[in-house]
Amino acid sequence: MSVLTRNEAQTRAQLLDVHRYTVELDLTTGEATFDSTTAIRFTARTAGDTFVEIKPETLRSLSLDGQPLDPERLDGNRYPLDRLTAGPHELTVDATMRYSHTGEGMHRFTDPADGETYVYTQLFMEDVQRVFAAFDQPDLKSVFDLTVTTPTGWTVLGNGVSTQATEGRWNIAPTPPISTYLVAVAAGPWHSVTTQHAGLPFGIHCRRSLAPHLDADADEILDITRACYDRYHEKFDEPYPFDSYDQAFVPEFNAGAMENPGLVTFRDEFIYRSAVTDTERQTRAMVIAHEMAHMWFGDLVTLTWWDDIWLNESFAEYMGYQTLTEATRFTDTWTDFGVSRKGWGYDADQRPSTHPVAPAPDAVPDTASALLNFDGISYAKGASALRQLVAWLGEKDFLAGINTHFSRHKFANATLADFIDNLATATDRDVHTWADAWLRTTGIDTLTAHVENTGHSWNLTVDHAGNRPHRITVGAYDHSLDTQTGTEQLILRDRFELDIPQDGTPTTQPGHRPDLVVLNDHDLTYAKIRLDPDSWDTALTHLSGIPDPLTRALVWNTARDMVRDGELHPTVHLTAARTHLPHETDLALVQGVLGFAAGQIADRYLPPQDRPTALATLTSLCRDLLRRTEGLTAKDWEQAPGTTTPSSPDPGLRLIAVRHFVDAATQPDTIQDWLREGTVPGGPELDAELRWRILTRLAVLGATDETAIAHELDKDPSATGQEGAARCRAALPTTEAKAAAWQAMFTDDTLSNYLFTATAQGFWQPGQSELLHPYVARYYPDAIALAARRGPAIAEAAGRHAFPAHAIDPDSIRLGEQALTDPALTPALRRKLTDQLADLRRALAVRDAH
Ligand SMILES: [Zn+2]
Repeated sequence: MSVLTRNEAQTRAQLLDVHRYTVELDLTTGEATFDSTTAIRFTARTAGDTFVEIKPETLRSLSLDGQPLDPERLDGNRYPLDRLTAGPHELTVDATMRYSHTGEGMHRFTDPADGETYVYTQLFMEDVQRVFAAFDQPDLKSVFDLTVTTPTGWTVLGNGVSTQATEGRWNIAPTPPISTYLVAVAAGPWHSVTTQHAGLPFGIHCRRSLAPHLDADADEILDITRACYDRYHEKFDEPYPFDSYDQAFVPEFNAGAMENPGLVTFRDEFIYRSAVTDTERQTRAMVIAHEMAHMWFGDLVTLTWWDDIWLNESFAEYMGYQTLTEATRFTDTWTDFGVSRKGWGYDADQRPSTHPVAPAPDAVPDTASALLNFDGISYAKGASALRQLVAWLGEKDFLAGINTHFSRHKFANATLADFIDNLATATDRDVHTWADAWLRTTGIDTLTAHVENTGHSWNLTVDHAGNRPHRITVGAYDHSLDTQTGTEQLILRDRFELDIPQDGTPTTQPGHRPDLVVLNDHDLTYAKIRLDPDSWDTALTHLSGIPDPLTRALVWNTARDMVRDGELHPTVHLTAARTHLPHETDLALVQGVLGFAAGQIADRYLPPQDRPTALATLTSLCRDLLRRTEGLTAKDWEQAPGTTTPSSPDPGLRLIAVRHFVDAATQPDTIQDWLREGTVPGGPELDAELRWRILTRLAVLGATDETAIAHELDKDPSATGQEGAARCRAALPTTEAKAAAWQAMFTDDTLSNYLFTATAQGFWQPGQSELLHPYVARYYPDAIALAARRGPAIAEAAGRHAFPAHAIDPDSIRLGEQALTDPALTPALRRKLTDQLADLRRALAVRDAH
C-alpha cells in the first residue's frame, strides 16, 4: 500500500475538480465483507495521468466513461488513470470490501449482550479507501450521495438526513462539498432519541443494550448539545452548515470522537453503565462541544494538507473548553484543562519527538507522518497557545478574525498562512511575529519569580528562559486566620497583568511582600512556572487553602514538573497530596493529582522497594476521603448530576476515593469484603465497573481465580464485561495466565482493538516484575511484527498499553533502543516506542536524582 505524499496531493489537486460521488453500500452480503459501488463524476482541467485509491478485498470491475478498465491493474491501493483527457469524466468502481475489527474503515461489532450487530465507519486520514473508491485527499471536496442496503430492522445514519426508501434500503441526503475523510455511515438496530432544535433534526444514538443508560442521560446530552449550538451561533457568523446533527455513541471506537459533518461518532463508554464523577460528565460535555466546533473549523473550512491538523484540533480543543464554561453548568473547565490536558502537552514537548505546534509543511511529507501528530502538542499545547493568543488579542478581535476565515474559505480549504492573514485583518497587533514565536518553535519557556521586599513595597522580577512573549496575570496572596474554623487560609490581595519579557525593570507593588506570589495565576499561558522560595514554602504548606481551583491546579502542575525534572523529591509530592487532597473540593484536581501520584510516583518514579509505602500512603489518603464523604444517602447517589450543594459530601469524591483505594490495595481483605457484600460500607453499592475493578486488583494480588472471573462474566456478559474478564485473566500472577495473554495479543490476530487493549492493561503490573521479566525482551520483536501485520490502530494500542512501562532499568532501555533500528518498524509504532523510551529514561533519571 502506498501512502499519499503532499507532492502527489498537490499535483492531483491541480489536475482534478471532483463533483460528485454516488456510492452504494450493500451490508447484507455476510459477516466478513460488504459490497461497494462508486460512481465519481469529476473534471480533468488538462490532459494527464493520475490515480484513484481503494483497498478492496476483491476489485470486481471498473469503467471510465462507460469503457471497462482492467481490475488487474490495481497496484496496492492505487488504480492508475493514465492519459486522462481534459474535460468531464465518470469513473465507476465495483468492489467487495472487508469489515474491520480494529476501528478503522467499516468496523463491525456484534454485541455479546444481545447478539445484535452494528457497523460504523471511521474514514479518517485514508481509511475511506477501505469502504469505497476515492480521490482521497482533504482538498478534493465533493458532494457525497450514499445509498445503503441493510438487514431488516436496522437504521442507517449518515452525514445528511437518511430516509428508508423501501425495507432495508436507505438514501442519505447528498452533502454539501466535504472532504473524503469526513464521510460517515453508521448502521444497525440503533436505539435513538430524537428532537428538533433551531429547525434541525437532532438525534442521539447507541446500541440497544445501552438504551436505558442513554435514556437516563438524554436530557443532559441534548441540553449541552443545544447550549453549545446556540453559543456557537452567537460566536460565528456562518450558520451551522449541514442539514441535521446526529451524535452516535458507537462500540470499540479508537478515539474519543470524530467530527463527521452531521454525524459525530463517539466512543460509547460515554454512555455510562456505571457511576461516574461530575468531572467525567464534564469531559463528555467537552467532547460534545469540541466536535461541534469542528463543524465550522475542520468541516466547513478544511485543512488543505495534514500539516495543519493542529489547527483543527487546537481550535476545537480551545473552543470546547471555553464554550462549556460560557454556555453550560460546567463553569470551571479550565481547571480540568490545567490538570488533565496541559501535562499531556508539557510531557510531549519534552520528549525527543516534539515538534512545532505548526510543523513546516515539508515536515509532514505524507499521510503516515501526519498520523503521528495526534499528540499532546497538537491538542493541549496548541489550545494553550490559542488561549494565550486570545488573552493577547482580546476575544472580540480573535472572533472577528475567525469569522473572516470562515466566510473566505467556507466549503473549501485553507492553510495556517490563510488563518494568520485573516486574524491580521481584525487587529493592529503583529500576529505573524506572534505565530512565528509560538507556533514555529518547540519546547517550554520557564518563568521564575524573584521577589524582593523593599520596606513599603515589593519588587517582582521574572527570569524568562525562552523566547516567546507571554501575557500573564500575577496573583499575590496573604495568610489569614479563619477565626470560626481556626484554620489558616490564603486570601487574594491583588492580581495584575504582566507582559513577559519585562523591559528590565522589576514590577513594584505596594505593601509588604505577599506570603504567596503566583506567576500565571489564571493559567493563561503555557510555560513552566517556578515560584520564589518563600512562596514555594507557603504553597506546599497551604496548597488546599488557595481559594481558586485554577490557581491550585497551576501550583500542582509546578510540583508535577519539578518532580519530573528531578527538582522535587517524589515523596514530597506524595506528602503534599496526602496533606492537601483530603481538603480538596475540586474533583478534577483530586482525580488528576491522585492519578499522577499513583501512576507515576508510586509505580515509576520511586524505586520498587519504596512502592509499598507509597501505596500505603495512597490508601490512607483514600480512607480520609472516604471518611470525609460519609453520610451519603441512597438519594444522594441517585441525585441528578450537578445538583449537590457544595456543603454536602460529594458522591463523585467518594467514587474517586473508592476507585483509588481499590487500585492501591496491597492486601485483598477489605476489597474482598466489599465484593462479597456488594457494597462499600456507607456506599456506593458496587456497579459493574467497580466489581470488575476490584476483581482486577484481586487478580493482580493473586487473590482470585478463573472460576471467579467466569462467574463474574456470567453476571455481566456485556462487551465491557468481556473486556473486564480479559483484563483480569491477563493480570493473574501465574506463568500460564501471562503466556495465554501474550499469545492472544501477539499471535492470534483475532482480538478486536478493545479486547487487545484490555488484555494489555491487565498484563503489565508493577508488582509482578519477576514473573514478567522474560516478556520485556520478547516485547520488541513481537510488537514490531504485530504492528506490521495489523496496522496503525493496533500498533498504537501495542505501543501505548502493551509496552513494559515499569521495566525502568538500563537493560530495558538498551533493548528498546536496539529495536528502534529495526527496519521493519512501522511509523506509528516507532513514534510510540520513541516516546515510551523517553519516559523510561526520565523515570530512571528521577530515581537517580535523589
Ligand atoms: Zn478534534
